[in-house]
Amino acid sequence: MIASKIKQAIRDVADFPKPGIVFKDITPILKDSRLCAEITASLANQLNGLKIDVVAGIESRGFLFGMSLAQALNVPFVPIRKAGKLPHKTIQYAYALEYGNAVLELHEDSLLPGQRVLIHDDLLATGGTVVAASELIQKLNAVVAGYSFIISLDFLNGKERLMAYSPNHFALAAY
Ligand code: AMP
Repeated sequence: MIASKIKQAIRDVADFPKPGIVFKDITPILKDSRLCAEITASLANQLNGLKIDVVAGIESRGFLFGMSLAQALNVPFVPIRKAGKLPHKTIQYAYALEYGNAVLELHEDSLLPGQRVLIHDDLLATGGTVVAASELIQKLNAVVAGYSFIISLDFLNGKERLMAYSPNHFALAAY
């Protein structure tokens, strides 16, 4: 099963980037090209029927499978980046992380009104990051069609915060 393969591959790093956080390191997954292909196919399969027009991936680990997912779904990929990285005109949203604060940005011409956007990130923790991404998408009058993650830390209840935007949440491995 894909969840157990992902769990076997992930490396837990204690106290990174600060004490008390168990960081889920996905870099061992990236070395296994067959598992990467399986992850992309499983995500694409779960998203069947959501009528996705665009995949938006969140910097930086959301770019990895976000791009391959967009390719599998045959739709455009849009990067959501940390402050100061996107070169053209942007919109911004400030939010709180499991560890620290951040600002996310989106190119203001990256989405058309009414487009159905799938937000992808490697991991769902408190949900603050994808809430910020959702706010950016709604600011451009596009629609949050759903969310996909490789990993969900269910004990942090991030899913509940996403319900306000879309009921469609998919994660391949939950803890
Ligand atoms: P959150 O906004 O709390 O849902 O945090 C999710 C974002 O922070 C994602 O972009 C993750 O890559 C990163 N993140 C948060 N907690 C962890 C963790 N325990 N292990 C790896 N990445 C994490």
